[in-house]
Amino acid sequence: MSLPEKVYRELAAVVGEKYISDKEFILAGNRAKTPDTPIPYRSPEAILLPGSAEEVAEIVKICNRNGLDFVPSVSGAIALAYCMKPGCVLIDLKRIDRILELNEEDRYVVIEPGVRHVQLYPELRKRGLTYPAAAVGPGGSVLANISSFGGDNHTMYGSSRPNRHLLGVEIVTREGEILRTGSLQTGAGWFCSESPGPSLRGLIKGWAGNHGDLGIVTKCAIALDPCKGPAEYRTEGVSPHNRVYFDSDCSRVYVFNFERIQDVGDAIRALGECEVGSTVIKYFYLPMTLMMTDSANAFFEKWHAEIKDGVRMPLVVHLAARSVREREYEEKIVFDVMEETNGKRIPRHIEKWFEENMDFFMIVSRLQSVLRLGGQWNPIKLGGDSVQHMCDVGDAVSEFIYDFTETGKIFDAPNDYQVIPMEYGHFAMIELLYMWDRLDPNGGRNSMEFMMASQETDLRHHYHSSTPQGFDQRAEAMGRLYSDCHIWMRRIKEAFDPYYKPMQIPF
Ligand SMILES: Cc1cc2nc3c(=O)[nH]c(=O)nc-3n(C[C@H](O)[C@H](O)[C@H](O)COP(=O)(O)OP(=O)(O)OC[C@H]3O[C@@H](n4cnc5c(N)ncnc54)[C@H](O)[C@@H]3O)c2cc1C
Repeated sequence: MSLPEKVYRELAAVVGEKYISDKEFILAGNRAKTPDTPIPYRSPEAILLPGSAEEVAEIVKICNRNGLDFVPSVSGAIALAYCMKPGCVLIDLKRIDRILELNEEDRYVVIEPGVRHVQLYPELRKRGLTYPAAAVGPGGSVLANISSFGGDNHTMYGSSRPNRHLLGVEIVTREGEILRTGSLQTGAGWFCSESPGPSLRGLIKGWAGNHGDLGIVTKCAIALDPCKGPAEYRTEGVSPHNRVYFDSDCSRVYVFNFERIQDVGDAIRALGECEVGSTVIKYFYLPMTLMMTDSANAFFEKWHAEIKDGVRMPLVVHLAARSVREREYEEKIVFDVMEETNGKRIPRHIEKWFEENMDFFMIVSRLQSVLRLGGQWNPIKLGGDSVQHMCDVGDAVSEFIYDFTETGKIFDAPNDYQVIPMEYGHFAMIELLYMWDRLDPNGGRNSMEFMMASQETDLRHHYHSSTPQGFDQRAEAMGRLYSDCHIWMRRIKEAFDPYYKPMQIPF
């Protein structure tokens, strides 16, 4: 047993014997490496599955009294959702999984951490409502994405980032107090993130959430959007070979290829000025090819035969109009804009893949396929600014990436970044995704050097493409470009977390 018997008993008294374990094989299963970062994982001292916010608060107090750290987790899809240092327990929130209220009139939903995208999204869509469902796939926690971590997705162009959708929040602070923010404070319900006094939404979510660093969110309300596109969709087959169709004359998907990222930016801005399109995204060509194929062999064949040089910068446009007349009007604008910005329609059979996988514009159940190559992968940058700024950042990738692609340190896909416009092109985010060979003994080191090369390029150009997150040395480095916000973030952390012990993350 890793925890002292007395502490284990105290924790077991809160959650019940059935929902705590320190058995070696259970702990080992909860330190499994995710394939994205070269961090050596430790086992947690114990894993707990609380059933309510009150139980979470009790666990946090016991941890504090006994000098233990804790990490909240739901599906554990990223490294930060695991214990990385000794003296840490994993608080798995998957049992707290109810949709508490779905208010169609005022358009919000109140959820607990264990609610997954696959649970919430279909419920909303059949009611003509939607929200920005992160492209992590169906098993991701909606609450984690909206309140505590990232949440970027394919459909932000006609909508926005998840942080704009966060309303009332219930959070267990690092001291174990249950805090209710926004309109909840005055007993006015969940509908608003603000209330008399200072708003805490920026502290809880900011750009990408605080990953449990300021507390554990146990409930939150999410603002809902009206759904553009058919409420009904047709599915065929069984995952991962399933197909998802929108049988609607109001829905169309077009994909255009570009040679220059600045032309892509011009196209995005021109479409945004006319406010046409439901989804517009300059997508990664590497994951796109992985999703389109069913085996590693098929991937390599397609990649070399037609994608690597033929579809280097795909701009995916989904029209979801309210009438056929509106769709035809939007189509005219789309084709005019593409003509003016040098966008060339890609071969029909590639475009057809999107028509048969309209799930791409919802919750992307095919996304697991991107892990099929069996290598290591990592998404970096993940920051946002204007469309122009993101295109400049994309242009500058060529300043450092060839040293890595041409020496075989990472997979040779130099244009593998996505630019997702938001709010009809009023701003945008960028994500650069790279893969490398998991069996390469220098793979982890190469990956770190690649991250550093990307960061140095951003610092040299003063690019806002890696919004500081958390409290590690990367946040310290990038904070300089964001009005020294890392200093304020550290002060906030110290004010909210008297138990804070700075830790150096080894990358
Ligand atoms: C193939 C793949 C694709 C991905 N694509 C995307 C994407 O497109 N967009 C995106 O945003 N992310 C993406 N991710 C990253 C990430 O996995 C998800 O954003 C997030 O993990 C989804 O929720 P989860 O249940 O997996 O959270 P977890 O992985 O369990 O947790 C995520 C983080 O949030 C913290 N956390 C969890 N619950 C709470 C809580 N209640 N209170 C406070 N902190 C909490 C955890 O400690 C951890 O730091 C992707 C990951 C993978 C593996």
